[in-house]
Amino acid sequence: MKDHTGQYKHYCTTCMRGFARKYVYEEHVMVVHEGRRFYCDLCGRGFTTKANLHNHKKRDHEMN
Ligand SMILES: [Zn+2]
Ligand SMILES: [Zn+2]
Repeated sequence: MKDHTGQYKHYCTTCMRGFARKYVYEEHVMVVHEGRRFYCDLCGRGFTTKANLHNHKKRDHEMN
C-alpha cells in the first residue's frame, strides 16, 4: 500500500500546509504568519514573495 505523504517534506506547524521545498515553506511562514514583505531596494515597493520581487526588478528595472 502506497501513500503520498512523502510528497511534502516540510509542513507548516501553524496551518498544516505541506511544502516540497524548504525555501517555499520558510517564505510561507514569513509572509503568511509573520506578515513579512520583500521590499525592492530601488523603488521601495513591497512584494509577498521573493519571486515577485525578482520579477518586478526584471520587468520594471530591467535587471537580471
Ligand atoms: Zn502556514
Ligand atoms: Zn522596484
